[in-house]
Amino acid sequence: MPGELQDRVALVTGASRGIGRAIALALAGRGARVAVNYLVNAAAAEETVCEVRKLGGEALAVQADVRDLAAVQAMVAAVRQAYGRLDILVNNAGVLRDNLVTFMTDEQWQEVLDTCLKGAFHCIKAVAKEMARQRYGRIISISSDAGLLGDALRANYAAAKAGLIGLTRAVAREMAGGGITVNAVAPGVIETELLAAVPTAKREKQLAQVPLKRFGQPREVADLVAFLASERAAYITGQVICVDGGMQMG
Ligand code: NAP
Repeated sequence: MPGELQDRVALVTGASRGIGRAIALALAGRGARVAVNYLVNAAAAEETVCEVRKLGGEALAVQADVRDLAAVQAMVAAVRQAYGRLDILVNNAGVLRDNLVTFMTDEQWQEVLDTCLKGAFHCIKAVAKEMARQRYGRIISISSDAGLLGDALRANYAAAKAGLIGLTRAVAREMAGGGITVNAVAPGVIETELLAAVPTAKREKQLAQVPLKRFGQPREVADLVAFLASERAAYITGQVICVDGGMQMG
């Protein structure tokens, strides 16, 4: 609903493109001021900021590698300095380093675990104390169907995304007393640059498994995240909600 996130401040990791950008736009479209995190694509992050401003919203780009705790702490401090508070954290930054488990290198394993899982831990650690003090917060992490169903060639990614679900539920229990909700969203196949790197044969196989017979759009994930970030979702915590055209049911 327009204006429902008025006076809220959000930090979205990996918001220079894809799902993160759509989330930044969805939150800004509902009135939140948004910090747009990125790793290397400063120009793309600025593009997200420009799109937010076109909507009449406020945003700033903040570079930080979520794998680096000190960098994350500095980023959170910079957001608080600019906007005075931080109410919504969206852990969205993620990478793929696909390989058969037999050939997967330690580096491929580590990079995915460090970005998708440890990165979320760093961001939660950096915001949790202040959210508890203000007795309000929304933490939403972007997991994946891969974390629930597994995915061939993605032992690293599936493990990280399943880990994100455990992290979400542990922190949801830990922070439940303080007006803070912690949830995960598990997209299926969503049309972003991440998907462009997937071979056509695999994409066709994936499409055959989607009951709704199409891939998702970033906006469809973002709308759910915006709802979870709102007051209307105050009674939802520790949940994993799929946006996947019905790939995972039950
Ligand atoms: P994407 O288009 O590849 O964008 C990835 C984003 O993460 C970029 O903004 C990138 O920043 C940022 N990033 C990467 N490593 C980072 C780091 N170490 N620190 C900070 N930022 C970092 O990805 P996407 O498809 O939108 O996916 C977004 C999230 O949804 C990911 O967690 C992904 O696993 C999850 N997901 C995606 C799908 C799908 O089908 N697309 C399905 C399920 C789950 P730069 O631009 O600066 O590199």
